[in-house]
Amino acid sequence: MEQWQELLRKSVDSGKDIVDRFGFDPEVAERLNTLFHIRINPYYLSLIRYPGDPIWLQCIPDEKELEENEFPEDPLNEDVDSPVPSITHRYPDRVLFLTTSQCSMYCRFCTRKRKVGDSDKISMKFIQNGLDYIRAHPEIRDVILSGGDPLMLTDYMLEKVLKGLRDIPHVEIIRLGTKMPCVLPQRITPKFIEMIKQYHPIYVNTHFNHPWECTPEAKKACDMLEDAGCPVGNQAVLMKGVNDDPDVMLELMRKLLAMRVRPYYIYQADITKSANHFRTPISKGLEIMDKLRGHTSGLAIPYYVIDAPGGGGKIPLLPQYVLGRNGNDIILRNYKYDIFTYPDVEEENADDAKIEKQYMRKPRRTRKAKRPARKPSTVPKNEK
Ligand code: SF4
Repeated sequence: MEQWQELLRKSVDSGKDIVDRFGFDPEVAERLNTLFHIRINPYYLSLIRYPGDPIWLQCIPDEKELEENEFPEDPLNEDVDSPVPSITHRYPDRVLFLTTSQCSMYCRFCTRKRKVGDSDKISMKFIQNGLDYIRAHPEIRDVILSGGDPLMLTDYMLEKVLKGLRDIPHVEIIRLGTKMPCVLPQRITPKFIEMIKQYHPIYVNTHFNHPWECTPEAKKACDMLEDAGCPVGNQAVLMKGVNDDPDVMLELMRKLLAMRVRPYYIYQADITKSANHFRTPISKGLEIMDKLRGHTSGLAIPYYVIDAPGGGGKIPLLPQYVLGRNGNDIILRNYKYDIFTYPDVEEENADDAKIEKQYMRKPRRTRKAKRPARKPSTVPKNEK
């Protein structure tokens, strides 16, 4: 057994474990474990500094999860765009390919709780159906392996999937969506690196949310991936109590860049069953972006996006830098709130009506996120 598998075997992974380790009420612990699996491997557990800290919040269940059962299980409507169970095909040239339901840690904020943690849900046939679908659709040139965490597969199984994809001529790019460099960096072994090097181009999207996760072990894992020719990008989720602070995000982005990990996205937390206590106002995300731009290298600045509810895709949000127009001049502000006038290039025959037509198209339709009526709490008062 490899070291990462041994660490996994020693995970806190039951209601009883959180009763023994953290003093949970046994009945609450069982309900939390039934609602969404518990798994915290010893490496990630060792990053906790005190109860309720940003690491704790991401991995230790919270009674608030039991209060939020009216919200959607599939906030991004991934299942609607799923022609076969292992594939989400939303954009023309790329697909999300689910290869396992297992993760080395079950993040309490996960938006795929409905698919994650149940080992019965994914089989070799399930994976083969995904490969068959991709082979039958020549427009697919980019495949994102996801789950669960695809690096929960053994090297042998993962190689079978990669080989299957590389046998399909129209697949150009493979991306691994994995949280392992952050939550179980021991998974990135020399053997694994030798294997994936054969299937380039491979990109890695990982998922660090707090600077305390940027440990020497995590740096080593990211270095190994980069040295193997896999560009590594980071997708953070903005979460209350974890990283909803401009200074924390600035430190995270700088540390990632120092580990050769390119900050890619900061996601606004999705409206998801049992995870809404992590949501923050959008103004907080904009404040963070305002603090990043100009205050650190452009390389360290990710896109701040909302994944539109109902499957609308990622929509980038920016603080307001254009303050207005004065005839042909555009009025801008910089990161220090100094005001500048920039003379725009005059368009031949331009008039306001034309500009409006070109740049201010009316939306075709409006989709609103469902906001369910609040029911009384499902947690009896004496448990709170
Ligand atoms: S690793 Fe990803 S899929 Fe797994 S629980 Fe965490 S967020 Fe969800």
